[in-house]
Amino acid sequence: MKIITEIAEMKEFSRNFKKSEKKISFVPTMGKLHKGHVRLIESAKRYGETIVSIFINPLQFGRGEDFDKYPKDIEGDEKILLDLDVPVLFYPESNIVKNTDTFIVNPEYSKKLEGLFRSSHFQGVLTIVMKLFCVVEPDFAFFGLKDYQQYVLIKKMAEDFFLNVKIIPVETVREESGIAMSSRNIYLDGAGKEAASAFYKILSSTADLFKKGEKSPEKLTGFAVKELIKNGFKVDYVEITDPALNRKYQNTEKGDIILAAIRYKEVRLIDNVFLI
Ligand code: AMP
Repeated sequence: MKIITEIAEMKEFSRNFKKSEKKISFVPTMGKLHKGHVRLIESAKRYGETIVSIFINPLQFGRGEDFDKYPKDIEGDEKILLDLDVPVLFYPESNIVKNTDTFIVNPEYSKKLEGLFRSSHFQGVLTIVMKLFCVVEPDFAFFGLKDYQQYVLIKKMAEDFFLNVKIIPVETVREESGIAMSSRNIYLDGAGKEAASAFYKILSSTADLFKKGEKSPEKLTGFAVKELIKNGFKVDYVEITDPALNRKYQNTEKGDIILAAIRYKEVRLIDNVFLI
């Protein structure tokens, strides 16, 4: 596996690679890889030469968030990538974000859902993803549906800027208990993991209520919030909206999505379930 740390070298690699007929598939991550990342990489490999990046992006962490203690395991990550036969790991130096004066913002979508609780988060995400796209120049880029709002915002950015990259969503990978895999799950102790497994179950029960005929968004979200609180969570939000994240509290229909963020002690979890 080729490990590239310098921006100029990464750009040169991609430029040279593009001279062949082959496509570049790109999977940006913050490392501490798990089965969710593995699914993204496996999908990517079906589309082209796969480049995985690992970079803990300071721009997307707010004050008081876990930037300093974000889990790292570069040796474990390299082993996973070698086992998956990934040809290139881009492990950029921190100068990829140093002295940045220009940021990508989507003011409308940053006011919603996660954006209400993490005010500069999406600006940080969009800015690093744009930078990585400019360096890697991928034909395809893969993002997990676990971070649904992030996926929608990145897709919109690619459309708004006519980028030559196709954004491909990948299903959420869950532990047997239902918890969505996340690098941050190591913050959960045994009791925390047990509690967290109720999160997905409650969202799924809410989707079941919809299936059985309950169409009122207030009743559905009300049910979810009540159950979450009963299970000891603090609820940041539970919302049902259309897949483009535009509609709120008018009606619900098949294909809508329930998005939620909760806190268990110090640990914040997000998840979502589609209404089918
Ligand atoms: P992260 O390293 O947490 O920034 O995530 C990198 C990519 O992996 C993002 O596109 C995430 O949405 C995706 N991802 C994280 N967890 C999962 C999961 N459990 N299932 C599928 N994709 C995931």
